[in-house]
Amino acid sequence: MARAWHLKSRPNGMPTSENFELKDLELPSLSEGQVRVRNLWLSVDPYMRGRMNDVKSYVPPFQVGEPLEGGAIGEIVESKADGLQPGELVQHMSGWRDEAVLDNAGANKLPDLGVPKEQFLGVLGVTGITAYFGLLDAAQAKPGDIVFVSAAAGAVGSVVVQVAKAKGMTVIASAGGAEKCDWVRSLGADQVIDYKAGPILKGLAEGAPKGIDVYFDNVGGDHLDAALAVARNNARFAICGMIEGYNDPTPASFRFIQRIIAARITIKGFIVLDYFPRLGEFYSEMAPCIASGAVKSRETVVEGLEKTPDAFLGLFKGENTGKMLVKL
Ligand code: NDP
Repeated sequence: MARAWHLKSRPNGMPTSENFELKDLELPSLSEGQVRVRNLWLSVDPYMRGRMNDVKSYVPPFQVGEPLEGGAIGEIVESKADGLQPGELVQHMSGWRDEAVLDNAGANKLPDLGVPKEQFLGVLGVTGITAYFGLLDAAQAKPGDIVFVSAAAGAVGSVVVQVAKAKGMTVIASAGGAEKCDWVRSLGADQVIDYKAGPILKGLAEGAPKGIDVYFDNVGGDHLDAALAVARNNARFAICGMIEGYNDPTPASFRFIQRIIAARITIKGFIVLDYFPRLGEFYSEMAPCIASGAVKSRETVVEGLEKTPDAFLGLFKGENTGKMLVKL
């Protein structure tokens, strides 16, 4: 019998383990065009918090009493689908569980790019695609720009730092705590601000005395306000995430919002799904950099299906450096 984490109740503010329930899940026998997969790696991501609210967004909300979903990598154990054989590895969206039955269209065979399979959930997956296109397309960052990136020791942020450096940009980064800051510095960031050690506005004004051309926002709130304060004329902001507000519905207040006008700032939100048609471009540039070690990745691995909610909740407490993953 398969087991899956279900949404037991909708969180109000910060989720707790009470909002989740691990239950048996009866899987159907295979129909034509389907595979049965044993999951090996599960991804937990901040966006999943938004799906726990009953609101309309770019993906439908999770339903109370139903299994949760998310990115996963699994091995095919039984197949009635053309072109998919037992033993092959696939990426799919039936995570938060140990086994799944998938339609052919929802099971994407992993390409052989010479990297560890779990990296398809991180630096070579949604994380890397978000960082790469968010920086180069949404923010239109170019060589010579001064780029500020928040949550820089996280999955997306750590890739933004490295892509920006590889493309000849100056990188100002922020992260929580000395250890994370040291790691971000080792990735090539020119200045790293420990936002837990003092106000981010002060840190950014000192770290970027000439201002910033680009802000890659993973945090929102005070970080976004500080970036508005120091933005140079015609700065471009790519709004990737605002994790500071995911568990706190109180709207943030912005002291420096009117600088959008005077500094002619462009602010663009983006969703990684829009870049999936350009996956080939991403693989051909990033896979060799990852395989050669020029772009480094780090994973924080939590072991066991039982620990999946803990791994997810850890994202909001800064318990991860690099990509948070669950290994089954
Ligand atoms: P991370 O690996 O960056 O994990 C989250 C990190 O956020 C934590 O480690 C923590 O780092 C930091 N954090 C948590 N709470 C706060 C807070 N209150 N204030 C400041 N920092 C906080 O996650 P991802 O890389 O997967 O995602 C990063 C962002 O990108 C998220 O906002 C996410 O929603 C967004 N995203 C958006 C996508 C899109 O398509 N637009 C796609 C993928 C991700 P620290 O210890 O440094 O505080």
